[in-house]
Amino acid sequence: MASIDPYATLGVSKAATADEIKSAYRKLARQYHPDVNPDNPDAEEKFKEVSEAYAILSDPEKRARYDQFGTADEQFGAGGPGPDFFRDGGFGDLFEAFFGGAQQARRPSPTMEGDDVQASVVVELIDVLHGAEKEVKYRRSAKCDTCDGKGTADGSAPKQCDTCQGTGGVTQVRQTFIGAVRTTTTCPKCRGEAYLVENPCATCGGDGLVTKSEELTVKVPAGVETGQSLRVAGRGSDGVRGGRPGDLYVVMHVAEDKRFERRGPDLAMKYDMTFAQAALGDQIVTDGLDESIEFEIRTGTQPGEMIKIKGCGLPTLRSSQRGDLFVQLNLAVPKKTGEAEAALLREYAEVRGERIPEPKEGFLGGLFKGKKKK
Ligand SMILES: [Zn+2]
Ligand SMILES: [Zn+2]
Repeated sequence: MASIDPYATLGVSKAATADEIKSAYRKLARQYHPDVNPDNPDAEEKFKEVSEAYAILSDPEKRARYDQFGTADEQFGAGGPGPDFFRDGGFGDLFEAFFGGAQQARRPSPTMEGDDVQASVVVELIDVLHGAEKEVKYRRSAKCDTCDGKGTADGSAPKQCDTCQGTGGVTQVRQTFIGAVRTTTTCPKCRGEAYLVENPCATCGGDGLVTKSEELTVKVPAGVETGQSLRVAGRGSDGVRGGRPGDLYVVMHVAEDKRFERRGPDLAMKYDMTFAQAALGDQIVTDGLDESIEFEIRTGTQPGEMIKIKGCGLPTLRSSQRGDLFVQLNLAVPKKTGEAEAALLREYAEVRGERIPEPKEGFLGGLFKGKKKK
């Protein structure tokens, strides 16, 4: 890290006075301080660089060493073991020295936020039309009743980890040929949790949480589609030691329907018409999704033709206006015909001047014949 040019980092010239350096640092430190830029690793990195540069240039001995050797590292030059900036205090202290102690890096806390939990619910097509109340069963981590969520057997509060001083991380400074390198790793003693439970509760093993089955009634809005989820705030797992609970996400699964196919807000169904209906036309009243629908089979309708019935589909999440219902007209051909029917059909063909069908003997006759051949 000493490979940075402290003059360039602070934006000052090699001839800058102590006051100029100080004022340049103040400006940049204010800009990049972690308290001003929470969860911004770039700013944090920049803040470290700025602080490191200032640590070099504000110390006449280190500055002289840098000017001479291009590094402030003590192994270069004759400088004695001066106070190490990283070991005593760190950036926070330097910052406080400038701006007063009010600002501090984030304070470690024994609480932890609860996890979000996912559950699923099956919804019928009619529920998509009207919306519905559904019972959802799921499992979550809930506060342990034995220890009241504290995790300790005797009710005492968990102790701050002494290895990491409650930060959850351990920082090591290694001197390398490019200078001091800081690495932070998860604290091995508390596994990053910052707190230790020395006398764990027998029920929850010290977590303060136990797995619990839950039932909850949720309001499924009209228009939902498979895969969409409903967030129920605060109904996920409980937080640790009073931390905020997570949320419950209920994932919708719209059940297959035997009669209807769905495409967004539109529905499609099939209607079997007879040859007589297709040829002569007909007025139809039949069941839609929620109420009866009426449509006309026009004279001479061909098999597969589609009829659109407006407003008999489904609403969407955004609009209560319903999509359309498409009815596909199939031609239902009788699988069996009696003698009278067959005679009429032959007569019909004759009247129309069509070829008169000449079927083989009946189904049983054909079967018999087939066997005889063998
Ligand atoms: Zn620790
Ligand atoms: Zn417990």
